[in-house]
Amino acid sequence: MQTHQIASFKANEIIRKCVHCGFCLATCPTYQLLGSELDSPRGRIYLVKSSLENNEFSKTSIKHLDRCLTCRSCETTCPSGVEYAKLMDIGRAFVEKKRPLWQKTARYCVRKLLTTPLLFNPIGLIAKHSNKQGEVIQPSASSKKVLLLGGCVQPALAPNINHSIKNILAKLGFEAIETPKNQCCGAIDQHLSAEQAAMIKIKANIDSWIAYDVEHIVSSASGCGLMVKDYASMFDAKDEYYQKAKIISAKTQDIAQFLSIQDLSKLNLEKANIAYHEPCTLQHGQQLAGLVNGILDSLGYYPAAVKDAHLCCGSAGTYSIFQPNLSKQLKTNKLNNLLASNPEIIVTANIGCLMHLQKGSKIPVKHWIELLDN
Ligand code: SF4
Ligand code: SF4
Repeated sequence: MQTHQIASFKANEIIRKCVHCGFCLATCPTYQLLGSELDSPRGRIYLVKSSLENNEFSKTSIKHLDRCLTCRSCETTCPSGVEYAKLMDIGRAFVEKKRPLWQKTARYCVRKLLTTPLLFNPIGLIAKHSNKQGEVIQPSASSKKVLLLGGCVQPALAPNINHSIKNILAKLGFEAIETPKNQCCGAIDQHLSAEQAAMIKIKANIDSWIAYDVEHIVSSASGCGLMVKDYASMFDAKDEYYQKAKIISAKTQDIAQFLSIQDLSKLNLEKANIAYHEPCTLQHGQQLAGLVNGILDSLGYYPAAVKDAHLCCGSAGTYSIFQPNLSKQLKTNKLNNLLASNPEIIVTANIGCLMHLQKGSKIPVKHWIELLDN
């Protein structure tokens, strides 16, 4: 793991790139809601800079950093290529040591609950979004193998998503091998500044997944896909895991990337008037804005353009747990914009957004992939 000195060096490198132009303010959800410079990307960059320089994070600084969704909308907008999310990781790792004990304890409990299947499965039974629907389509014996990231919470909450992917891939001539539930990608630990716990998971995943020797690793949760695509950047080039991490990251694709080059004409589609919510992890993190929309258009769905589609829905990993008020406001705004076209179904591409939007929606919210497995 990086030491504080190396982290500070990296932080300086990132901070120096910011030319204070303020373009990012207009596309930051928290600045849009709160109108305060300290709740904008530029303001938070300043907070991290002054805090690292003074070796001190005040309570106010922690509050404003915690309000950031790490949606990375600011990175998409920034003309100087400021690696804002990396800077926040460094700032938050530093902040973590300064937190009061009750905050550390709450974050630890949430982290363990979400990433330990034995603890989360009973919650999944109560909060389950959907069961597997329809038959299981067996792949043919000659099918090419693809590794499908199972995810830690998704199998308990919405098992139909990966069930649909397996069926779709079987129809297209692929066999999807799903990774076990205990192989969490590490994103929840990473976002809650538990870097060591994240690194243990990342290394175990790399060792396990490299052994499958498949050409493609496919993710149905854009948050997990983003994390795995970032694995290589988490190791020093001299680290024994660096080359293996590079291979895993290079093989990983969102399911939309994988399907975008396949012939989907033989799939049975669910007919519905839909609205599509593009997760931040897909459009800003993975920089795949418009890819799912393009696939949906090619299949005849033509989802209407959504106002403020670049803004986060407020789910953002554990944000809805630790920042419930801001998260709720963002959800309400997002749902109002999605419902403007009177859809029958809202579709998205990440389990966190799906569960979050469903809590405020009277119409069903699904993963878009489920429309293709009818
Ligand atoms: S990551 Fe999102 S919430 Fe955080 S500063 Fe950037 S745009 Fe704002
Ligand atoms: S982060 Fe980028 S867009 Fe925002 S103020 Fe700095 S240079 Fe400008």
